[in-house]
Amino acid sequence: MSTSGMTVRVPSWRYLPVAFALVVPVLLCVGWTWLHAKSEQRHAAEDAAKIVRVQVENILSQAWSLLDRVADLTPQPCADVLPSLQRWSALNPYFRALVLANSDHIYCSSVIGTVDFAIGDFRKWPIDGTPDQWLFSVAGTPLAPDRPAILLGKPGAPGYSGAVAVDGRYVLDLLNAVATLGDYRLELKVGKGTPIRSDSWQGSAGPADLIYEEVTRNNGRVALSINVMAPWESVVSAWQQLMMSYLPAAIAIGAGLAFAAYRLQVNRLSFKEQLRRAMKADEFQVCYQPVYGQKTGQCEGVEALMRWNRPGVGFVRPDIFIAAAEAEEMIIPLTQHVLRLIERDLQTWQTPPDFHIAVNIAPEHLSSTGLVPEIQAFRANIASRQPLIVLEITERSLISDNGQARRNIDALRAEGVRVAIDDFGTGHCSLSYLQMFPVDYLKIDKGFVHAIQPSGEEAPVLDVIITLAHRLNLAVVAEGVETQAQFDYLTSRGVAFIQGYLFARPMPSVEFVPWYAGHSPPGAQRA
Ligand code: C2E
Ligand code: CA
Ligand code: CA
Repeated sequence: MSTSGMTVRVPSWRYLPVAFALVVPVLLCVGWTWLHAKSEQRHAAEDAAKIVRVQVENILSQAWSLLDRVADLTPQPCADVLPSLQRWSALNPYFRALVLANSDHIYCSSVIGTVDFAIGDFRKWPIDGTPDQWLFSVAGTPLAPDRPAILLGKPGAPGYSGAVAVDGRYVLDLLNAVATLGDYRLELKVGKGTPIRSDSWQGSAGPADLIYEEVTRNNGRVALSINVMAPWESVVSAWQQLMMSYLPAAIAIGAGLAFAAYRLQVNRLSFKEQLRRAMKADEFQVCYQPVYGQKTGQCEGVEALMRWNRPGVGFVRPDIFIAAAEAEEMIIPLTQHVLRLIERDLQTWQTPPDFHIAVNIAPEHLSSTGLVPEIQAFRANIASRQPLIVLEITERSLISDNGQARRNIDALRAEGVRVAIDDFGTGHCSLSYLQMFPVDYLKIDKGFVHAIQPSGEEAPVLDVIITLAHRLNLAVVAEGVETQAQFDYLTSRGVAFIQGYLFARPMPSVEFVPWYAGHSPPGAQRA
């Protein structure tokens, strides 16, 4: 039989779920780690913004309370209040200058004493911007035009107001320190003023994303707004790190799922297709169980037993897959395949002529018209070893016969092939068939053999079967012989052949060859 003629094309889309099962966990891992890296980064940025806010609010609250005292000094002349302004400015950290203004002129400054600055000269210093108090950040003040500051002011006596300038250096240092926490670029805006930015804001040129924005309000007006930005690469590298730690697990899960999907897919292939593929893939093997001949005290033959070693599954029980193959009408191609395997194995054997090779033949096969030419071809292919071929058939085959089985048996026996009735006594046994069908051996099922007691008590049914077989001139083969007591019982009753674990277990051809060499007398083997 050429199994290559039975090639089954498996559509590749069938394996789409397998690919899907492999890819989905990996994609999920990539997506999830990306989102996770983004959210981690946002959380860290939120913490950074919080540090800035708390510290700036702390500075501002000190500034507000100082401002109250400064505004209270109006409308006193500068000379009278200057010592107080200077002392407060020196004793309180953060402040660059404390000033007093009269309508649109600053008339007193803690830094330079009596002055006369038109407020209009102050760059963008809208001292009269809001009626009660105001607050904003500026890029510079007249005394330090290049250093940012936060200005706070409030009205004092009618027509007068007080103001304090918080030095932006403190805020800048704070922003720079916090920026190092996560490669951030930070920006603080007070009121509607000029933003104060960390050095990293100007320093780095690459693109950056706004990852967090915090706005606090005071009486409905924006008091502080803090923006945290980070370069695009920083989230990418955090993501890559996360991915590296989760990807192996995702790949492992994907592989597990793909394997499960594959198994599911393979199981969904029809059993017929599976058998065809298995034959093509050489997954079947034949094991040979030696049969002991009572007359010679030697191994006189073997029974060929099929084995299916499925990759990833292991050995499938023969009674299960053979029953399934029979149900799926695959037993004939399968047996044909086994015959090819036996032919291949026999090339390495050194057995003498008439060595028994027993092959199991299913009922459907026995009543097929192709059996005779197939067995003839098989014999021809192994003719160099001149074995004696025994077909093991079941009582079931005899009962269901419509004539073809009988014709096959007659034709094959005429050519020297022997026939054994397997599992005798377990099927719908009808003794009349034994008379109708000319056969050579009766194989007693292991159930009867196991009924033999170690004490040597009689096993009446077994005895009847043995006697019956002998009366019909059939040689008896006892199978499933596991103990010496069983062996002794059977040989004492003239059972010609003994098969079972006591003598030998079924073994693959490579094991059988040395086994046989060690169990046959010198000269029994043929070169
Ligand atoms: P079977 O034809 O009755 O084969 C004998 C079974 O008994 C084998 O089981 C063999 O391994 C097992 N056996 C041998 N000695 C002992 C023993 O001392 N104790 C016990 N408990 N068991 C023993 P296996 O190989 O599992 O085969 C099961 C059945 O599968 C076979 O029963 C036969 O019906 C079927 N089978 C196996 N190979 C083929 C085949 O190539 N073609 C067909 N049609 N059927 C096969
Ligand atoms: Ca058998
Ligand atoms: Ca049997």
